[in-house]
Amino acid sequence: MENTIKRTECRGCGKFFVGTSVFDEHRIGSYGEAIHNAKGNVTGYTPHSRRCMTEEEMRVAGMDCEKKLVHIIIEGKNTYEEHDVWFMIAWRARAKSATYGKQTDEDEEEDNDDA
Ligand SMILES: [Zn+2]
Repeated sequence: MENTIKRTECRGCGKFFVGTSVFDEHRIGSYGEAIHNAKGNVTGYTPHSRRCMTEEEMRVAGMDCEKKLVHIIIEGKNTYEEHDVWFMIAWRARAKSATYGKQTDEDEEEDNDDA
């Protein structure tokens, strides 16, 4: 099956991504940083504000989405579902120009559009 990707789905917002590195990019905010006093003891934590970017924020961050068949294994069976899948525009361009044919990021798809 051509033009398919493995599933990287966000359980927060339900969006699909070409890889975990792109997934990481859409998660922003703090996990809650430790606050130290003068002696270096932890006195508290900043608020946990980890969240998903909105689609608007993702586009501003240089991401885009396209319809792709996503490879999903359900009870041991290979299944393909069409979803909007997000990717980093710059990363894709870089992968195509500089390191095509050489696997540098195991999460990055092979995109063989012979247009
Ligand atoms: Zn998300």
